[in-house]
Parts: sequence; structure tokens; C-alpha cells
Amino acid sequence: MEAFQEYFKPGFLEVIAGPMNSGKTEAIISHFNKLRFVEGLKFQVFKPIIDDRFSKTEIASKNGSLLKCVCLDHNNPMQILEKLEENTDVIGIDEINFFNKDILLAINQLIAKGKHIIVSGLDLDFRGEPFGAMPELLCMADKVTKLFAVCEFAGCKASATRTQRLINGEPAKYDSPQILVGDKDFYQARCKQHHFVPK
Ligand code: ADP
Ligand code: MG
Repeated sequence: MEAFQEYFKPGFLEVIAGPMNSGKTEAIISHFNKLRFVEGLKFQVFKPIIDDRFSKTEIASKNGSLLKCVCLDHNNPMQILEKLEENTDVIGIDEINFFNKDILLAINQLIAKGKHIIVSGLDLDFRGEPFGAMPELLCMADKVTKLFAVCEFAGCKASATRTQRLINGEPAKYDSPQILVGDKDFYQARCKQHHFVPK
């Protein structure tokens, strides 16, 4: 079945990366919604439990779209192997940056099992530094998509590749913890020029 091969490449790893609001979750939801129409193809979508901002059973894009998912403990990414159902062909993982680095072992095992894996996450943290296992994943990937948002700094509309953390409206300091789950309350997409990280 030639058409089937467009959607299921055994052992193939795709990485979707970008800042907050760049449409990473939207891209995952849109792709897997299409896969629902490929008869005979089985997929599963996962996210780390740390991201329970909206729902524990769905991934949610800020554009309003939703997709059913299974939550995993971000400190125990190998759990994905236990939650894997028989005959799953394509695997999606959103917010991959929140998992500890064991996610690399898990992904390598999924690749060895011949799964097609599509992951998405923040490439950079609020400091503008590589986030979690993203550097390794971007190197291992067979396909990389970098998305951008629109800079939310007042008056700027440049393309945003950075995520600005704001605490009470002020840029968070460099030594603020790497992980602080939040949305518009704490974060804005920003271009490089308007990304501030005071020491
Ligand atoms: P991500 O998962 O990358 O944070 P989402 O898929 O949740 O992104 O949200 C993408 C949607 O967010 C866009 O389709 C758009 O409707 C909305 N959005 C909100 N703020 C911005 C912004 N600054 N730039 C682009 N899109 C934005
Ligand atoms: Mg998202």
C-alpha cells in the first residue's frame, strides 16, 4: 500500500520546535486528526502530566482544537513503553521538553520497534537556552520543523523565536527556575530583540 507509506515510515523521527504560541500543539492536532482518516493506521498521542493547564486527557491548542491523549509522568518517560498499545504505528508526543533525559532512551526504543514518532516542544527555555532533551532530539531527527509566533512586545510584530517569561509584568531573572507551567499569565512570544533575561 503505497499511500500508507506517506503516513507511516517505520523508525522515522520528526521534531516540531518553536517558542510558546508558535502552533506546535496545533500542528500535532492537525496532523493526527488527518491520520484518523487513514484506514488501518493506528496512532497514540502522549503528553507529560506536568502540563495539566487545560486537561489531563487531551492536548489543547490555543486555537481551540483538542485531541485525546494519554498523560505520562515527566520524571518517568520510559512509562510510554508500558502505555503503548498493540499495533500502534504512529506516536505523537507534545511538550516533549518537559520530560527528563530518559525520554531519549524511550524514543530510541520506539525507533527500534519501528514506530513513526512525531514530537513537539519548546526548543529554548525562558532564558533562551536549550530545553531538556531538545538538542539531542533535533540532532537525531529525520525531519525538523521550526515554527515561529508573532512577537507580543507592544508595537512589534516581528517573527518570534523566543519565549519571554514575565513575573508581575516584568522579565523574569536568569536564575528563576527553568520550569514554571503557565500560559498568558507568565509567557509571551518574543523576537530576539525583545527577549529580555536580566541577570
Ligand atoms: P504552541 O503549542 O506552540 O504553544 P498552540 O498550538 O497552543 O501553540 O497555539 C497556536 C495558536 O495560538 C495560533 O494558531 C494562534 O491562534 C494563537 N496565538 C496566540 N498568540 C499568538 C502569537 N503571538 N503568535 C502566533 N499565534 C498566536
Ligand atoms: Mg503547545
